[in-house]
Amino acid sequence: MKKPRLVVVGSSNTDMIVKLARLPRPGETLLGGKFITAAGGKGANQAVGAARAGGAVTFVARVGRDLFGEEALQGFVREGIDINLVARDPSHPSGVALIFVAQDGENSIAVAGGANGSLSPADIRRARSAIAKADVLLMQLETPLVTVAAAAAWAAARGVRVILNPAPAQPLPDSLLRRVSLLTPNETEAELLTGVRVKDERSAARAAACLRAKGVGTVIITLGAQGAWVADAAGQQRVPGFKVKAVDTTAAGDIFNGALAVALGEGRPLATAVRFANAAAALSVTKLGAQPSAPSRRAIEQLLSKDSS
Ligand code: ADP
Repeated sequence: MKKPRLVVVGSSNTDMIVKLARLPRPGETLLGGKFITAAGGKGANQAVGAARAGGAVTFVARVGRDLFGEEALQGFVREGIDINLVARDPSHPSGVALIFVAQDGENSIAVAGGANGSLSPADIRRARSAIAKADVLLMQLETPLVTVAAAAAWAAARGVRVILNPAPAQPLPDSLLRRVSLLTPNETEAELLTGVRVKDERSAARAAACLRAKGVGTVIITLGAQGAWVADAAGQQRVPGFKVKAVDTTAAGDIFNGALAVALGEGRPLATAVRFANAAAALSVTKLGAQPSAPSRRAIEQLLSKDSS
């Protein structure tokens, strides 16, 4: 099968994680931590998730002219991602997230978005021909909204399907929502966008109907281990998740979105594509980390075939 062409517009961060017995208090120096770095950022996680799931991915992003940017680019190249539209920002450092994780799992995170904050409509203009040729444009909200809106407008005008993962949660103008073919909030994000507290299938249906009334064609509300609530013009249903032993749910939503974009780009029907995305995301929660946990196409297909036999 020909690989679907995907353009992912979004953020790239380096996660710097210190594991400690407990979180340090303000003004306190706590010794004895263990340090790990990991590639992260929602955009990059989605790009890597999509590449491993079988997409031909072009990433549109900004990193700094520093070592973190260099390493991030090398990581994308190893995944077979096209980095011609990842700009090296001369005046801002690469995005970083400084993360403390305590033994009991509690964490405290500080993000300095750096170069992600200067991804601009000019970057989208440079990406116009790639977007026009794509089967799917996939975005999130860790880069400026005006840039997301510019990309959505260009793609929608050319009939390119736009998937927007509205994370981290923030209010969105209806003018943007009207250009989004598929919106993929989790329960919290769906609540922020609609005011409906999503806690079961009935409330998910209400939130989805509210978003469809604002002009979004298809709404997919991810429901953690329960899978996802899917609503479009044809109707609504829950596509159940896969039973796995969850170890770390970081980036489950990102992996879901990357795999969903691949399956839709391959022309699969909506419910089948969501099942594929549920399988990819379920596999990702069985492993530690964001990008390291993204499963291969083979692993996703194995889980799908095991489950239907
Ligand atoms: P987010 O990570 O953005 O908060 P969710 O928690 O809804 O989003 O998870 C996204 C997707 O990941 C779900 O729709 C589901 O497919 C999968 N998933 C998440 N947690 C689990 C789990 N414990 N077991 C199986 N699948 C899961």
